[in-house]
Amino acid sequence: ITTLPKPNETRIFTIANQKGGVGKTTTTVNLAAALARSGAKVLVIDLDPQGNASTALGVEHRADTVSVYDVIVNDSPMKEVVQRSPEFDGLYCIPATIHLAGAEIELVSLVAREQRLRTALNAYLAEDAGYDYVFIDCPPSLGLLTINAFVAAREVLIPIQCEYYALEGLSQLLRNIELIERHLNPRLQVSTILLTMYDSRTNLANQVAQDVRDHFPRETLTTLIPRSVRISEAPSYGQSVISYDTNSPGSLSYLEAAAEIARRGAPA
Ligand code: ADP
Ligand code: MG
Repeated sequence: ITTLPKPNETRIFTIANQKGGVGKTTTTVNLAAALARSGAKVLVIDLDPQGNASTALGVEHRADTVSVYDVIVNDSPMKEVVQRSPEFDGLYCIPATIHLAGAEIELVSLVAREQRLRTALNAYLAEDAGYDYVFIDCPPSLGLLTINAFVAAREVLIPIQCEYYALEGLSQLLRNIELIERHLNPRLQVSTILLTMYDSRTNLANQVAQDVRDHFPRETLTTLIPRSVRISEAPSYGQSVISYDTNSPGSLSYLEAAAEIARRGAPA
């Protein structure tokens, strides 16, 4: 296990892309696991009512579990909701349950509806200062939950699937992030773009990867995540691919991407 540089202050990432099925949850879980394996203390906040990140990290998220819903809607402190993931020491998760599906509507009438996650997270980090990384897994839509994630975060990580429509919708996402930056969170930055589900045998994948690098030379990680069956199998065992099959190409690529993120450090 290689030791990686630790950030001076907690780096808070939102993993966003308004498309579904592009690898947001997979990226959240595996980067978090990879960093925890290197000795970092990492928190994953599952903000998708589907609860896929909670499942993949092997934490309880039945309907009666206290969850991120209680944090956002009922002001429950994160300290009372957080669970340890059995995956690695230092890996923690605020789970999502099915109740979160209603939060999008309930939030509308609440005070400071865009800042509820930020307020709760800042209070928790002030109490438990040991966290190196926080990753917030977003649902595939730009509703109040995703806005809460953008307001709570400092960095945005966009996973991009290497396929034809990848760049479509990206400019919309970037415009939305700019609006958030202007009105709600001036510190927000798209720091990281990760190319996922890459199949080197197709010209198209190479072309999309090159396009993304041309547009975002600073943000795009050198590491590519290959399309890999082991990556897609891991969640059904309640595991990240990092622990499910450590030496598989998919696992190694996420370990490498995590190392790159750690070495680059936080944006200025
Ligand atoms: P999102 O959170 O953006 O909806 P997911 O992370 O859930 O996307 O990924 C969508 C599907 O693709 C899942 O079934 C997941 O297991 C699979 N998947 C994600 N990344 C890869 C990969 N690199 N190779 C193969 N399958 C992948
Ligand atoms: Mg997801």
